[in-house]
Amino acid sequence: MRQSKMLVPTLKENPTDADIASHQLLVRAGYIRQLASGIYTLLPLGKRVLSKIEKIIREEMDRSGAQEMLLSAMQPAELWQESGRWYTYGPELMRVKDRHDREFALGATHEEAVTSVIRNEIDSYKKLPMTLYQIQNKFRDEKRPRFGLLRGREFLMKDAYSFNESHESLDDSYQTMFDAYCRIFERLGLNYRAVIADSGAMGGKETHEFMVLSEVGEDVIAYSDTSRYAANVEMAPVIKEYEKSADAPKEMEKVATPEQKTMQEVADYLGHELQYGLKSIMFQVDDFYCLVVTRGDHEVNDVKVKNLFDAKVVELATEEETEQLMGAGFGSLGPINAPKEVQVVADKAVEVLANVTCGANEEGFHFTNVTPERDFVPDHYADVRFVEEGDPSPDGEGTIKFARGIEVGHVFKLGSFYAENMGASFLDNNGKSRTMVMGSYGIGVSRTLAAIVEQFHDEQGIVWPEQVAPYQVHVLSLNPKKEEQRVLADKIYSDLLSEGIEVLYDDRPERAGVKFADSDLIGIPLRIIVGKRAGEDVVEMKMRNEDSKTEVDYSTLLGEIK
Ligand code: ATP
Ligand code: MG
Ligand code: MG
Ligand code: MG
Repeated sequence: MRQSKMLVPTLKENPTDADIASHQLLVRAGYIRQLASGIYTLLPLGKRVLSKIEKIIREEMDRSGAQEMLLSAMQPAELWQESGRWYTYGPELMRVKDRHDREFALGATHEEAVTSVIRNEIDSYKKLPMTLYQIQNKFRDEKRPRFGLLRGREFLMKDAYSFNESHESLDDSYQTMFDAYCRIFERLGLNYRAVIADSGAMGGKETHEFMVLSEVGEDVIAYSDTSRYAANVEMAPVIKEYEKSADAPKEMEKVATPEQKTMQEVADYLGHELQYGLKSIMFQVDDFYCLVVTRGDHEVNDVKVKNLFDAKVVELATEEETEQLMGAGFGSLGPINAPKEVQVVADKAVEVLANVTCGANEEGFHFTNVTPERDFVPDHYADVRFVEEGDPSPDGEGTIKFARGIEVGHVFKLGSFYAENMGASFLDNNGKSRTMVMGSYGIGVSRTLAAIVEQFHDEQGIVWPEQVAPYQVHVLSLNPKKEEQRVLADKIYSDLLSEGIEVLYDDRPERAGVKFADSDLIGIPLRIIVGKRAGEDVVEMKMRNEDSKTEVDYSTLLGEIK
């Protein structure tokens, strides 16, 4: 491509709204432009890099046996009401109305949409397990869109969903995706860690995030200095607790007795104003609601319930949404935007409630065995123990260190949450109807692009790894007004093109200084400089990530490059 004809609007100055390297450089080097807060245009160079990342992701997803499809971004509200996320997702979900006043959601993820396809089209175990994926724009009305492509309101995601006949089968699909993710991030050349993550309380307990190590990351991870062990620090306070409670019974069935405590007593005990619905209670901490819900089968009038609690923190929603939320009686797998401290309170509430026996009648929940000597103080977080740097790693190998990370991927065992709510079942090999088990797996494609820049740049600009560079070779003719420079540079350009090498050709009538600066900024791996010695058929070659230049004779140039 001739640079004189290409849309590469480079800038000398950093944009004022950008405070991290990837945001500054992607704007300055002419890869992206902002259209509105958290909404970006990918210019031609940016699009080329994005496509390279997509290609690597596609190759690894296809290799893993996943099938590519394309779901619609616009989805009827009814689907989201079936799953319950319409009420629990909060303001991050973009909602629109059509001309008939019918409501729609713009896909933040696509569990509902894909489950609705599968429940209609798959009815036998013979087609299972099946993993489907797509690469598509997602919409999330983030509270604080920032850092350019790192946190957008419209962004590109690869999302995949596995449908399984059993938890064992889900384990296999999960591992297959996990391995594919490792290959993807390795091929992208990223320094990353797969960390144990917070499952967001509801749903599957096993989940990992893929974190690119970077000072600008919004997450903190704890990792072992010698083994592969790593955890999101959100999880760190829980690490020790897990060890303690590994054998504790998680589920028990009890029948409530007449001495049962009332909700109000529990509310008083928790020290927060409490609202409650049939299957859930909720309390407010700062700007957040902690929604504590029961799971399992409920025999509301028969007073038989399973004592299994889980918690979900949601941002304050509208009154109407809150009511619906309470009525829905379950949490969601939607995003949790609450700060860690609030999350900790929710976790604590669960811990307390997991040790009470509960029952329900038509008036709502009642609790027995609320033991006040437990030291639960919801608005006081002092008793939370965090893992400290230098502590032994929970896997027994090495000691804990901390680092910041950018979440580029997330794999998640969903279990049957969606399949149950949305009625996705199949006939097993005995002809018995069973609910499907699901997993979901996301990669932030546009975020990954920015994360690569965070790890691959210097003072002068971006330093692309070859496999994602927009072009492999940057040919600079330092003074195109000089006939011999122009002719030689033209010749090299067309030679490279006919070899199928991706080449950007700076043929602009600019000063040499400008061309060097732009070339550093853009970050193409190999530079060929056609300058003073063009008359002797001699050019200079320089790698973007090295300081030294070498002179090369035109006759051997192609051989050197290939
Ligand atoms: P975060 O914790 O950063 O808000 P998330 O946990 O909400 O991310 P997921 O629901 O796990 O995100 O979505 C899968 C992937 O999509 C994430 O791992 C991330 O790479 C990407 N992603 C999520 N939100 C954004 C965003 N606002 N802009 C760009 N990429 C995003
Ligand atoms: Mg989020
Ligand atoms: Mg996250
Ligand atoms: Mg996530």
